Order: sequence, then structure tokens, then C-alpha cells
Amino acid sequence: MGGVDVLVRSSWLLVAALIAVMLAPRVEQVQPGLGGGKYLAGLAFAVLLYLSVLLHEMSHALMAKRYGLPVKSITLHFLGGVTEIEGEPDTPRREFGVSVVGPLTSIAVGAVFAGLWFVTPDGLLLMAVEGLAGANLLVGVLNLIPGLPLDGGRVLRSAVWKVTGSPHTGTIVAGWGGRVAAVLALSYPLLIEVVTSRQPDLVDYLLAFVIATFLWGGASTAIMSARLRRKLPTLRARSLARRTLAVPHDLPLSEAVRRAQQEQAGSIVVLDQHARPSGIVNEAALLATPEERRPWLPAEAVARSIEPGLMLPADIAGEDLVRAMQRTPATEYLLLEADGGVYGVLTTSDVDRAFAATP
Ligand SMILES: [Zn+2]
Repeated sequence: MGGVDVLVRSSWLLVAALIAVMLAPRVEQVQPGLGGGKYLAGLAFAVLLYLSVLLHEMSHALMAKRYGLPVKSITLHFLGGVTEIEGEPDTPRREFGVSVVGPLTSIAVGAVFAGLWFVTPDGLLLMAVEGLAGANLLVGVLNLIPGLPLDGGRVLRSAVWKVTGSPHTGTIVAGWGGRVAAVLALSYPLLIEVVTSRQPDLVDYLLAFVIATFLWGGASTAIMSARLRRKLPTLRARSLARRTLAVPHDLPLSEAVRRAQQEQAGSIVVLDQHARPSGIVNEAALLATPEERRPWLPAEAVARSIEPGLMLPADIAGEDLVRAMQRTPATEYLLLEADGGVYGVLTTSDVDRAFAATP
């Protein structure tokens, strides 16, 4: 749709069927004598319901596109929908725009159906219009609750971001908002009892549990990724690099290790016959080679040959560094200066250790 893939999860079908079954008695009440048709009417309503969820998601997608953010897909699942946007809005104002437009669209759609309610004749159609008005208004208002992963959470995030200047602080505050919302959702059956003095039933408890789990999970994921990303900028390839010793590819391994120890180098790079770096000695492979065999093996025997993804600029840092390492997973990387000279070797274990040691 508009160059955006719309995916429908199978869990959606389950809920659509559930809605059809749950609505059937009411359909029967409003329009008796439909037979099996009452399920069909319920299913039609479920489809309309999800079409309005789709409108909500499309408004997020269109706003993101307006800001030049590529939209990957829209997925409809049992609790509504998700619009997957590549990258993140780069300013609090854009974050606000992309997130607030969804609930506003739902409220607008709900208002349109509420208006139609006055002019729709009694019968099945009125029942559908009433349901769609109520559902869209509910989705719009509930989504404005200021906690991640809800849209209102992203609105809160943008506000905190604007005030503090830090998107990460915004995420953590909005994440805690989501956790509070989760706890409140869990107490919803009690609220029913207090407000309507109706005894909550199993469905109420189940619904409260599912929604609370969804909110708590989404909020916690957001908080965790914000904490990780806040630590990332402290990771700098240059400061984590090991001194490296370059040796000819056919130098015996034992001699290469002896020279490296003498030079206090933490890594060994193998040069080809044109004196260009062609491989990085793999520490694990080296340690796995018995000492008595090392004089008989050339250094290149335990080296991983250098492919383009294993060469990184010495000044790479933060998210760029992590992304580059994810693109080409390896235990050692060669760090190059801008002029192509070798600066050193970066090991994944050193990066992991530095990351774990950052508070
Ligand atoms: Zn939304």
C-alpha cells in the first residue's frame, strides 16, 4: 500500500474469529433469523475494525515518509498494529509528529462514526457504526497513555527529549511510564468491581494479564535498549586497539609469537609477498596450537584472511562500530588510518569487556 508492505499475522485471524463468535449472540438479538450469517456479520465487523487500525498505522507511516524516514512495513496483529520505520526521527518535534498522528487519526475516525450514528437507521448497520465509533475512540484515547510502547509514550519521550536534550533520557522516562501503565492495567479487574460493582470474570483477568504483559515487555525492552545505546558512544576503536606486529606470511608461528612478545604487541598481522596485510592471526587458533608444533607452522596457518568487512577505520566508534561488527562478525578486525596504514587490531573480546565495564 503506497509502497509499504502490509502484513497480517495469523494471530489476527484468531482474534477476528473470536470477535465473530463473541458478537454472534448480539447480532442474533438485533437481527434474528440470520442463521450462520450471524458469524459472517461478526467477521465483517472484525474486518472493518482492523481496517480502522490500518488507517491508524498508515497515518504513522505517511508522517514518517514526510520526514524522509523509510517505512519498512505495517503489521496487523492481535493487539492492533505496528508500523516499522527504518531509523528514528532525528528531532523531538518529528518524533512528536510521527507518534501523535496515530491516536489523532483514531479519534477522528471514531468521531466520524459517532456522527454517522445519528443518521443510521436501527439494525445491524447501527450496531456496526456504534461499535466502530466506540472502538476507534477507545484506541485513540488509550494510545495517548504516556508510556512506551504506546504512542503516548513516544509523545512523552519527545517532550522529555525536547526539555533535557537527550533522547535516551526521554526513552527511560517514557519506559517507566509504560511500566506504571502495565501495573495499572493489571489492577483493571479490581477497578471494574469498584466502579461498576460487577464481579470481574475470567475474561477480564485474562485481558488485564495480556495487556499488562504486553506493556511491561515493551517498556522494559525500550528502557534496556536506551541504556545500551547510552553506553555505546564511549566505545572507540582507536582506544581499544591492540598494538600489532606485522610478520611475513611464511614466518614460523613460534618466531612470530616470540617477536610479538618482545615488541609487547597484542596481535599479529600477516603480510603477503607484496608486504600488504593479508591476514590477522586468530588468538583462539593460536592458543589451540601446541607449542611443539608452532615452529613447523607458518604464521598464516592460524590467520583469518582479511576481507573488506574486517578492515575498519581507526576512528570508528559507538553505533557505527557495533553495526560494522554485526555486518561482518569476527574475533579480530584490522584498524586502518585514513592513509591506509595499519593502526592496530581490534578484538571483539576487548570490545565486549569495555562495554561490560562501562557503568
Ligand atoms: Zn500508533
